[in-house]
Amino acid sequence: MRFSAFRVIKEALTGHKGWQPLWRNPDPQPAYDFVIVGGGGHGLATAYYLSTTFAKARIAVLEKGWLGQGNIGRNTTIIRSNYLLPGNQPFYEFSMKLWEGLEQAFNFNAMVSQRGIVNLFHSDGQRDAYRRRGNAVLLSGADAELLDRDQVRAMIPFLNFDNARFPIKGGLLQRRAGTARHDGVAWGYARGADLAGVDLIQNCEVTGFRITDGRVQGVDTTRGFIGAGKVGVAVAGMTSQVMAMAGLRLPIESHVLQAFVSEGLKPTIPGVITFGAGHFYISQTDRGGLVFGGDIDGYNSYAQRGNMAVIEDVAEGGMALMPMIGRARLLRIWGGIMDMSMDGSPIIDRTPVDGLYLNAGWCYGGFKATPASGYAFAHLMATETPHDTARAFRLNRFATGHVIDEKGAGAQPNLH
Ligand SMILES: Cc1cc2nc3c(=O)[nH]c(=O)nc-3n(C[C@H](O)[C@H](O)[C@H](O)COP(=O)(O)OP(=O)(O)OC[C@H]3O[C@@H](n4cnc5c(N)ncnc54)[C@H](O)[C@@H]3O)c2cc1C
Repeated sequence: MRFSAFRVIKEALTGHKGWQPLWRNPDPQPAYDFVIVGGGGHGLATAYYLSTTFAKARIAVLEKGWLGQGNIGRNTTIIRSNYLLPGNQPFYEFSMKLWEGLEQAFNFNAMVSQRGIVNLFHSDGQRDAYRRRGNAVLLSGADAELLDRDQVRAMIPFLNFDNARFPIKGGLLQRRAGTARHDGVAWGYARGADLAGVDLIQNCEVTGFRITDGRVQGVDTTRGFIGAGKVGVAVAGMTSQVMAMAGLRLPIESHVLQAFVSEGLKPTIPGVITFGAGHFYISQTDRGGLVFGGDIDGYNSYAQRGNMAVIEDVAEGGMALMPMIGRARLLRIWGGIMDMSMDGSPIIDRTPVDGLYLNAGWCYGGFKATPASGYAFAHLMATETPHDTARAFRLNRFATGHVIDEKGAGAQPNLH
């Protein structure tokens, strides 16, 4: 079933009887060429690119709950490619290019909306740092503009420009950044992978790896043993636990990050705005809800809910930036589990176990990476060579010291 304007009109005129489920619900086969563990954004994107671009093979995605139940359906949906470091920027720009053609490629409305992002700055030093980042972005071929205070005011007049402590002095704008509908992205990739023959197996938790003579043979699951030529793990917040079953200890900690949604308001926020003095970012959905968030809670956790201290901190950030937000009622709050790496950057690499591959360490920035992460992981698993834009995301960089510390925070996962 293809989606098109014609199809929508036809269904509207015939009582919407022709829509079909977006994917099959198959039972697992005894064995596959490729098994992907984790039916989040990255696992589904990997299966999609494996099946459509790299390998005509038997492929399965094993998901312990339902597709999209994890962070892919919990994030604040910001996409951007305005990173500083050479290890990161080309990868995120590659991802942005994939976002730009994604809906046509998988024939699904993921509501990719390039409304722009403005990172506000509040001091001369911060302006210089943003100018440097903007130049790095431009050198990579992506877009960036440094705005002065008046330009920001013309674009977002309702901000508190004269806050005594954090006056707004300008902002770094990336116009091609924006938002995408997070669960639409999961569904689009799932549907595309299913159409290409991938078995998407829900309610199938991986409980162990069978490894013989240093090579993976398959996975034990709650639905029995499933043999595999190659296994790729993309389980985000559960990475440490799942990889421990293969005997691997990783430089990753799990932390909770919360998201907040207000009641629906008239269109107010033009794109994505980030507050450069505290940690606060905000956008507005097409239904009018303000979607915002702040820092991780700061302690290790596997619970998908956070604590009051961060809620207060996020509310303070919002009030300092745009006091009128105090009039909006908060409707929903939830948490997701972040796979925080020691340098704040991801890992897409082989592991010491033959045939076992790892995609992890996305911290709280992995949504924007979904297309490139899936593509690069599929590339690695199919060709045994890293994708050009993901060469720096090696697991052994923590041993060799080639860390990619975008924030300069040091080996402190709770600070990235
Ligand atoms: C509140 C919040 C806000 C965020 N905001 C942004 C943002 O604005 N921009 C951005 O770029 N990023 C953002 N992120 C980060 C982004 O959502 C994640 O980095 C990214 O979604 C992680 O990859 P994923 O989609 O594959 O993870 P997930 O969707 O979590 O997928 C992992 C899957 O693995 C499954 N799994 C776990 N263990 C097993 C097992 N043993 N067997 C089988 N399956 C298993 C889980 O059930 C889950 O479905 C945010 C995250 C949160 C929580």
